[in-house]
Amino acid sequence: MVIEQKEPGISAPDEVLLRILDVGICGTDWEICTFEYGTPPPGDDYLVIGHEALAEVVATGSAVERLQPGDLVVPSVRRPCPHPGCLACRSGHQDYCYTGDFTERGIKEAHGYMTEYVVEQERYLNLVPPGLRESAVLTEPLTVAEKALAQVSWMMRQRPPWLDPATPGEERGRGLSAVVLGVGPVGLLGAMVMASAGFTTWVYSRELPPSPRIDLVTAIGATYVSSQATTFADLAEQVGNIDLIYEAAGHSHFALEALRWLGTNGIFVLTGVPGVQAFREADPARLMRQMVLNNQILLGTVNAGPTAFASALHNLELFSQTWPATVRSLIAGRYPPESAPELILGRPSGVKSVVAF
Ligand SMILES: [Zn+2]
Ligand SMILES: [Zn+2]
Repeated sequence: MVIEQKEPGISAPDEVLLRILDVGICGTDWEICTFEYGTPPPGDDYLVIGHEALAEVVATGSAVERLQPGDLVVPSVRRPCPHPGCLACRSGHQDYCYTGDFTERGIKEAHGYMTEYVVEQERYLNLVPPGLRESAVLTEPLTVAEKALAQVSWMMRQRPPWLDPATPGEERGRGLSAVVLGVGPVGLLGAMVMASAGFTTWVYSRELPPSPRIDLVTAIGATYVSSQATTFADLAEQVGNIDLIYEAAGHSHFALEALRWLGTNGIFVLTGVPGVQAFREADPARLMRQMVLNNQILLGTVNAGPTAFASALHNLELFSQTWPATVRSLIAGRYPPESAPELILGRPSGVKSVVAF
């Protein structure tokens, strides 16, 4: 529903008034709009959604140093909890909040960005190079993979001692294989991150060709395999030792099946948040045996901090040079705010729909 709000203004010296340019729509918005997820701010009976934003600085408070009017910025989503004992939030790492009492703009107890003007504190804004005006709305969904890969690379360099810890970022995955589960925006952006880090990258999802999403996978030099045509066992045989599985499908059965095929010393990253799904019997003893005997890691990751935003912006510049057409086609289209309800509740296209103001 589109509502009228009064225009916000700067009320503290570290605040920045922003004019929203683009807001990306994702599955989280769908969950909020179907009332599976999301909480309005205390005292309000509605929640302004939108958490994947690109904005232009309109005015700055007197203490703002890094930004000036005209700058492009991408805001982060999560804000710290109030508890003095939360070491994560107190050190600026609210993506690792212990208490769960954080807020998230457009998702949990804080209004989002699907509105013309917002006010935000300088510290939550990431400066965007002017060349990324067209693609920077992809920054926030890209941070999911950036945060994951930063942890994966750290663990990979610390663990298998034959990997050279001094390997430059763009060769972090050299000689290693990655399988991405899911071909939605998080999966596609994840595949781009893995491929550009040098992993031999595979994307495994239900979809059958022909499909524009599969074309995007191929365009970045990754290999697409459909679960409707090939079993995971056959995929594993093609890949060899699967060093990394990046789950971006949010489907528990699919993830559990994939976990069985994780390779020796492999890392399995979970990014999807499934809703209620049918109960499925598992064999935990077999799974424990497999994970222990193969030095495997199961890693969940949510949200992202400033480092992930910085590397997402860096990678977006790189992707825009390496795969310009792919980056362009990741954005399905820009639509007026009035069409947001339809875009959110419609069938997800797997590439990003953007509301433009
Ligand atoms: Zn999102
Ligand atoms: Zn906290």
